[in-house]
Amino acid sequence: MERFVYADNAATTKVSDRVLAAMTPFLQQNYGNPSSIYSIGRESKKTIEEAREKVSVALGASPAEIYFTSGGSEADNWAIKGAAATQAKKGKKHIITTNFEHHAVLHTCEKLARDGFEITYLPINDEGYITAEQVREAIRPDTALVTIMYANNEIGTIQPIKEIGKVCREAKVWFHTDAVQAVGHVEINVQDQNIDMLSLSGHKIHAPKGVGALYIKKGIVLQNLIDGGGQERGKRAGTENIASIVGLGQAISDCTQDIETKIKHVSAMRDRLIENALKIPQVRLNGGLQNRLCGNANLSFTAVEGEALLLLLDMNGICGSSGSACTSGSLDPSHVLLALGLPHETAHGSLRLSINEETSDEDIDYIIKTLPPVIERLRAMSPLWDK
Ligand SMILES: *Cc1c(COP(=O)(O)O)cnc(C)c1O
Repeated sequence: MERFVYADNAATTKVSDRVLAAMTPFLQQNYGNPSSIYSIGRESKKTIEEAREKVSVALGASPAEIYFTSGGSEADNWAIKGAAATQAKKGKKHIITTNFEHHAVLHTCEKLARDGFEITYLPINDEGYITAEQVREAIRPDTALVTIMYANNEIGTIQPIKEIGKVCREAKVWFHTDAVQAVGHVEINVQDQNIDMLSLSGHKIHAPKGVGALYIKKGIVLQNLIDGGGQERGKRAGTENIASIVGLGQAISDCTQDIETKIKHVSAMRDRLIENALKIPQVRLNGGLQNRLCGNANLSFTAVEGEALLLLLDMNGICGSSGSACTSGSLDPSHVLLALGLPHETAHGSLRLSINEETSDEDIDYIIKTLPPVIERLRAMSPLWDK
């Protein structure tokens, strides 16, 4: 193996040195329960509030609007189920979402549908975008919530969140966005962008797995998802995951610093990667290029099976992911790629490479060099490849 290139940052990231250093004192020295009265407990409490402040600054929110959760999935579940429960009391049982959300949103909506809610799934176009106009047309008097992801985890397309938020504000409908992939990669300001609720996750931005947050705009009341003790101002029970919360605070401060420079740097590498990959015969780029996460490249190769491709890349030291799903026990390829209108075979032959600021130009060179012969080798074995 010539080189190790981790290009699956949309799946998870490495905990950074700064995050780890910020966290460790809270595992063995300041391990006190934040609800306790003695000094190591008070210290924990103070630190959680500092982390809350950092998250709020990164989003343009106030600290009282930030609630820590166990991750992005919980934040999505809480926003959607909590809003649904509150709104149902007012007779509102209609939810608008899209057909390319993360499963934390889609499966939550499917569950609510079984409980009597009506869900409208807005279709994305063939480049992977939704318009504010589609949202406007779908809103009804009984619409309880609009939930649309900020940026897609597979194809990296960034939605017109500010415009969608404006449409929702005008119609007085609550607007939630799953911004797990957007935080740290796109400039976010919840006030400016008319966002009522926003989910984020630590492990996508160099904090540990198992921590996240939900921003809930002041004035919005959600039914609790987790009942118990009085933590998180009585809204989310459970002894706080202090070390991880501290890590999240550090990570979000770090990743929102100098974001413009980072976007420029990473998107230049991404563009070079895409440009060169597109020289391979019979390849397509999934998702539009204009509004796209700076680190996302998603390609489909005719007559190539995604998981075989991942294995060969892994043998060459490259970690990526695919919309193909054979090992996950399902024969259906990614719902996101199908939502784009790709035929099953094309969706099965997809490859997502997600790079970030830790990726080097040499890493990109290595991928560009490694990919074509790997594709050629797989095609040579494929009964679908017509030479
Ligand atoms: C990773 C991810 C989630 C889930 O976050 P977890 O912290 O892993 O629960 C939700 N939505 C999107 C878009 C994601 O990429």
